[in-house]
Amino acid sequence: MTASEIAAAVRDGTLSPLATALKAREDIVSREGQPGGLNAFLALTSEELLEGGVDGLLAGVPVAVKDNLATRDLPTTCGSKILEGYQSPFEATVVRRLREAGAVLVGKTNMDEFAMGSSTENSAYGPTRNPAALDRVPGGSSGGSAAAVAAGYVPIAVGSDTGGSVRQPASFCGVVGIKPTYGRVSRYGLVAFASSLDQVGTFGRTVHDAALALQAISGHDPRDATSADREVPDFANVVHGGMSGMVVGVPREYVPETLDAGIRRLVEESLERLRGLGATVKSVSLPHTRFAIPAYYVLAPAEASSNLARYDGVRFGERGAGGDIGAMYESTREAFGPEVKRRIMLGTYALSSGYYDQYYGTAQRARALIAQDFEHAFCDVDVLFTPTAPTPAFRIGERVADPVSMYLSDVFTVTANLAGIPGMSVPIGRIDGLPIGGQFLAPWWEESTMLRAAGALESSFSEGGT
Ligand code: GLN
Repeated sequence: MTASEIAAAVRDGTLSPLATALKAREDIVSREGQPGGLNAFLALTSEELLEGGVDGLLAGVPVAVKDNLATRDLPTTCGSKILEGYQSPFEATVVRRLREAGAVLVGKTNMDEFAMGSSTENSAYGPTRNPAALDRVPGGSSGGSAAAVAAGYVPIAVGSDTGGSVRQPASFCGVVGIKPTYGRVSRYGLVAFASSLDQVGTFGRTVHDAALALQAISGHDPRDATSADREVPDFANVVHGGMSGMVVGVPREYVPETLDAGIRRLVEESLERLRGLGATVKSVSLPHTRFAIPAYYVLAPAEASSNLARYDGVRFGERGAGGDIGAMYESTREAFGPEVKRRIMLGTYALSSGYYDQYYGTAQRARALIAQDFEHAFCDVDVLFTPTAPTPAFRIGERVADPVSMYLSDVFTVTANLAGIPGMSVPIGRIDGLPIGGQFLAPWWEESTMLRAAGALESSFSEGGT
C-alpha cells in the first residue's frame, strides 16, 4: 500500500496503525536476516516502542529515517564508529513532525559515514545492497533509506541531501527522491556535514507519497536560524495538477556528448512524454556547470572540517585512550573512516591561512555564478529536466579506490545544493534491469511546479501513455 492509502485507512479506522507497524517490522527482520539481506537498517525500534497516530497526514504510516537525524529512542550513529551507540538527548524537528503527523518510526537507515559518499560503502557498518541488483550499490549517502523504500519495507523514508544524497540513490534504486529548497525543512537535529548545503529530503515509491512526506516535515522552525518563515503549500495535492503549458528547459551541459547512450535515450523519451503532456521543451545553457564539482569539493569539505571538530572524545561518542589530551584527541579521531579523514584534511587545507582566498574564496565565487546561471535560466523556463546521475548503479567495490570517480557521480546533483534550489528524481526507465532517474530542478520555493511536472511524467508511465 502507498503511504496515502495507509493513512486514509488508518483515519477511517479500517486499519490498525500498530498492526501495520508490527507487520513492517516483522518483514524487515525476516528479510534482512536472510543471506542477501540489504543491510539497509542500523537500528530498529523495539516492538514495545512502536507507536503511531490514528490521525494526521501520515496516520499509521511506517517510516524509516536516515541515521544522521537525532531520535529519542534509537541511537544516532551517522554510519560512524565515532558515534557508535550514541544516544541523542533531543529529537530532530523532522522526526518530531513525522511523529506529530501520525507516522511510526520503524528504524534508522544505513548511510555513508557523516553523509560523505555516493554509494553507502563508506558506512562503518558495511555497505547496503541495491534491491534491484544485490551486487550493486544503492547510491548514497542516503542509500539505506532509498533501498528500504525500493524493497517495500516502508512506503516513505527520510534522508539528507548535501550534494545529491537523496536524488542519486533514488535514481539508483528506482524510487522518487525530493530535495527541497534550502530553508524549507528544519535542520535542527540533523547532524551537520556542510551546513550551507545540507537539506533533509524524502523518498517514496510515488511522487504523491514523497510529496506527502515533504509536506509533513516542511515549515518554519525557530530552532534553525536558516529555516524560512514561509507558508507550506499543499504539496500532495498539486501532484496531479498536470503540466499543460509548462516550459521545460534542458540544459546542454547536463546532456554532454559523453553521456551514457542508454541514459540519453531514456532522457529523450521522457522529453517526448513531457511534450505529449502539453509542455514545451527548450534547450538552455548553464555555462558555469563545469565549476560545480570542483567548487563543491572545496566548500563541502571546508564546512565539514569545521563541523566535525566537535568529535574530539570530550563531548560526543567514542573516546580513545591516551596519556595526555593531545594523545587522547589523536586516538579518538583515528575512529573516523578514510573518506571522512580525507575531507577533514582537504577542508582544513582549503581554509588554512594563505590558501583561504585561493581555494575557499574562488569556490564561493563559482557558487555565486552557478546560482546566477539558474536565475537566468528560470526567466525563460518553469522547470529544468536532466538525468539525475551519469550512470546506473555501479558494482559494490568498483569505485572505492578512486575517490574522484566516486565524486563524479554527483555531477548533475551538486548544482542544486550550491544554488539552494529544489530538485527531485523520478524513475524514467531501466537499462539492463537497472533503474534510471530523471531530475527536475525548479526555482527557489517552487517545489509545487516541480511536483506537478514530476507527477505528470509519472502518470504517463503508469498509464502507458504518450
Ligand atoms: N556524494 C556527495 C558527497 O560525498 C554528496 C553527499 C550528500 O549529499 N550528503 O559529498
